[in-house]
Amino acid sequence: MSGLFGVVSLSDCTRTLFYGTDYHSHLGTEVAGLATLDGHFRHRIHSIADTQFKSRFAAHLAEMPGRSGIGVISDSNTQPFIVSAKVGDFAIVTAGLITNKDDLAEKLLEAGQSFSEVARGEINPSELVAKIISSGKSIADGIRLVFDQIEGSCTMLLLTRDGIFAARDARGRLPLVLGRREGSYAVATESSAFVNLGYELMRFVQPGEIVHITAKGAESVWKGSRKRQVCSFMWVYTGYPASAYEGISVEAVRERTGAALAAKDDLKADIVAGVPDSGTGHAIGYAIASGLPFRRPLVKYTPGYGRSYAPPSQEIRDLVAEMKLIPIVDIIRGKRIVLCEDSIVRGTQLKNLTVKKLRDSGAREIHLRAACPPLMFPCIYAVSTRSLDELAARRAIKALEGHEIDDVAEYVDPTTQKHTHMVQWIRDDIGVTTLRYLELDEMISAIGLDADDLCTYCWRGRND
Ligand code: SF4
Repeated sequence: MSGLFGVVSLSDCTRTLFYGTDYHSHLGTEVAGLATLDGHFRHRIHSIADTQFKSRFAAHLAEMPGRSGIGVISDSNTQPFIVSAKVGDFAIVTAGLITNKDDLAEKLLEAGQSFSEVARGEINPSELVAKIISSGKSIADGIRLVFDQIEGSCTMLLLTRDGIFAARDARGRLPLVLGRREGSYAVATESSAFVNLGYELMRFVQPGEIVHITAKGAESVWKGSRKRQVCSFMWVYTGYPASAYEGISVEAVRERTGAALAAKDDLKADIVAGVPDSGTGHAIGYAIASGLPFRRPLVKYTPGYGRSYAPPSQEIRDLVAEMKLIPIVDIIRGKRIVLCEDSIVRGTQLKNLTVKKLRDSGAREIHLRAACPPLMFPCIYAVSTRSLDELAARRAIKALEGHEIDDVAEYVDPTTQKHTHMVQWIRDDIGVTTLRYLELDEMISAIGLDADDLCTYCWRGRND
């Protein structure tokens, strides 16, 4: 994942850029970068694998003056990229996943282009996008070339000598939102970045739209499309609770998914809990709807730890998860617990750490409830850290069938025996008393957009 923030002001904006970018730290744990413009471009890029963004970049606050700037927090790409091209000088940050990156790079290499950045044998996607933009007649024309040529998704911010160009990917899978305060306009992945910085939310950028932002306003220079497939997983898991996408609050959706799970249950339980932190909103919704008390049997020791999902190595993910969750034995001992989780991706942390901690602390029963259906397919648009054979559902299918299978339609369908057996296998593997998933139409209903307006690829393997 990646989170983007950009700002243009009548006065210096570096401090705003610093905090606005930092408010996207939940979307990446590997690398971060800032670029500002004050007559000339300045940029800084650092690894944030061991140190939080604020610690790494605080020293640059005084060194990077400017009235406009862009920032990024990312799991992979080293960016911003600074480019000097016939369309003008620009700095660029991108978010998304370009699945035909190698083919596009090959074409550019054959045409005589070269790439300066090759990390771990891979072309840097932001540099690739910058090259395509540079071949356009203008910045906006170049961005449209990117949208025409890429497969996957790409949302981007370009810092130019004449303001920021903000472009949301062609199907709007990742959010992008505009905000304003006196003398300044800003753009962000997460609307929650605006609140404490005093920005009023103006509107959400449309899929494929290109917006030109200056200190005087935000003008649409390309309307884009009304056809959208917004990432459902942002509401369920990856997004920040205080944000809204397409005007729909993340926390409110999580409370609705929890309520929908409770509506299907008639459990005799003592407490409801969420797997911290992303299961909390779902658990609150479950507790309100069921009348069972919301308690915290596990608390997260936050200082020094990031999210356990984002680091690319499983070893690091497990270590972070093991160390950061602390059980409260007095709350757990002898209790029948409804444990709400956003999703079950791999299931290994749940099994080896969360459920084990609850069992070791004396939990009598654990009823696991997931706020979305079993994840069946790796994301091909935004979240690149899971592979097919890592997914709990795929491991279950392989165990039940004796080998991997391509056609998993029967397992996707919640009315089939095969689906039931898959869920039972995952329940037994994780070691909980009962397991239930929210069904796809219930999740879509909790989000509140039409099914056609949502990306649900990771559950169905298609969007239609
Ligand atoms: S495949 Fe899943 S995670 Fe990826 S954009 Fe679609 S809904 Fe989001």
